[in-house]
Amino acid sequence: MQYCPQCRTELVSGEHGGVPRRICPDEACNFIHWNNPAPVVAAVVEYNGEVILARNAAWPEWMFGLITGFLEAGETPEDGMLREVKEELGLDGRIGGLIGVYEFIQRNEVIIAYHVEAEGVVELGDELAAWKAVPLDRCKAWPFATGLALRDWLRTRGIEPPMLELPGR
Ligand SMILES: [Zn+2]
Repeated sequence: MQYCPQCRTELVSGEHGGVPRRICPDEACNFIHWNNPAPVVAAVVEYNGEVILARNAAWPEWMFGLITGFLEAGETPEDGMLREVKEELGLDGRIGGLIGVYEFIQRNEVIIAYHVEAEGVVELGDELAAWKAVPLDRCKAWPFATGLALRDWLRTRGIEPPMLELPGR
């Protein structure tokens, strides 16, 4: 954030409560950009006994992940999750349970991960370029954020997935 949303003064780097912050130098305003992490919902989508992994249109060819999305104002996490599954996969989902809550510090997000049971015919939304259904015992997880959610859900099914090593991490 570059300009103050209250008075449009250019923000400066400062400190508040021992944490570096962007703050408004206008003494009558005193706006502080808290930069709190955004909550993101993520689904391990179970479909015909397999897990759906999808590739975002902006991702490299080899990269597949869970269905994720930001919540809309006024929406419960569960409703937002099922809306994302419908928008991105065209599937009707049912919340199977909360898997857990995970940090994604690099993106300043908190991941709320659900198991979603889904049915219907897959129809990809605009954000996705490809999808695949992977048998549970063939799933590989990745060692951060949504990958840990996938691992933790597979463990509830008695499966310890191999962890992918990602290039550049
Ligand atoms: Zn200001």
